[in-house]
Amino acid sequence: MRGSTCLWAVLAVVLLGCAQARSAATSNSVSTMSETSVAKPDSSHKTADGFVNPLGVSDHGSLFGFLKARFRSGKWASYQPERYRVPTTQPEFADQDDEPVVTWIGHSTVLLQHRGLNVITDPVFSEYASPFSFAGPKRITAPAVTIEELPRIDVVVISHNHYDHLDTASVQALGNTPLYFVPLGVKAWMVKKGIAAERVEELDWWESRKVMINGVEVDVTATPTQHFSGRGLFDRDKTLWASWAVAWGGFTSWFGGDTGYNDQQFREIGERLPNIDLGIIPVGAYAPQWFMGRIHVNPEEALQIHQDIGARQSLGIHWGTFILTAEEIDEPPRRLAQALKNAGLPLDSFSVFAVGETRRYSQVGDEHRADGHWRDKAGEY
Ligand code: ZN
Ligand code: ZN
Repeated sequence: MRGSTCLWAVLAVVLLGCAQARSAATSNSVSTMSETSVAKPDSSHKTADGFVNPLGVSDHGSLFGFLKARFRSGKWASYQPERYRVPTTQPEFADQDDEPVVTWIGHSTVLLQHRGLNVITDPVFSEYASPFSFAGPKRITAPAVTIEELPRIDVVVISHNHYDHLDTASVQALGNTPLYFVPLGVKAWMVKKGIAAERVEELDWWESRKVMINGVEVDVTATPTQHFSGRGLFDRDKTLWASWAVAWGGFTSWFGGDTGYNDQQFREIGERLPNIDLGIIPVGAYAPQWFMGRIHVNPEEALQIHQDIGARQSLGIHWGTFILTAEEIDEPPRRLAQALKNAGLPLDSFSVFAVGETRRYSQVGDEHRADGHWRDKAGEY
């Protein structure tokens, strides 16, 4: 136990950070914006020694407090993941379909298919979300498919460099076939891992690129989130974190990546991108709230983001795959269903899928079809 506690201490530093979150400060000059940028540049998230959350994020807890909660608190320390059931099913990938088709592969990995183009978010297929291939937060739910079973991937968007979102083996397996969109600072890592520089577009918040892929025009915009970054002990906040709007063929998706809630950034996204068809929004990894609250959203805050960005429908991700935090594994969907009920919104406006589930966009809003599991549980929460 001692060894594993020690390992967790290292991982906690890497995955969750222990430094006092810095408040916003401006110093660096503004980077040159691309021709296709949608608005005026804003450098309030850049400082001389890294990136910050421009709205400021107060201290999100000490490492000591985290380790105490992780290993001494009855609930989290005695976790028994096998007690929980995350529904899984077989994907039904699209075959040349004009209607957008959405598959949850697991955690933050979502495959979007439309007009013959395949877009994947934060592809992670490894067993551990960690610097090690043998330890750290382990999957409790296998990816819906192996990476080899995916259709050809044309576009990859990466939200930030945490291990549960940026996976070396997955990126290397996808190789130079897709075009990668990454936040500032992540391109160097991609190139180091063998991806050709010309296959990686590195964007700042509110920068956009229009690209033609297989005769389809795709419009990709990096948008803000409230989070942090780091893969080791010395690279805290050296690379940026982002969410992504990807639009093609009349379909606009917005991938939220990893984020805490504030009442400005998402409203701004809703104002500047008024036509989001599908929000892909994290709903898990929020407990204990005192430690996670500023960097991850809970289901109620996820619903607020869904409303702030004005998404027609949303899909809840970032749950049911890796045990990163203290909430019960199946709590996020139950709490989300209750939040929808409390807000007087239809359950089908913000769905969760079974791992591996594919839905056509016109069906994205349906309640969970497999067995009504989440819906039935909503009343119990
Ligand atoms: Zn993260
Ligand atoms: Zn995450």
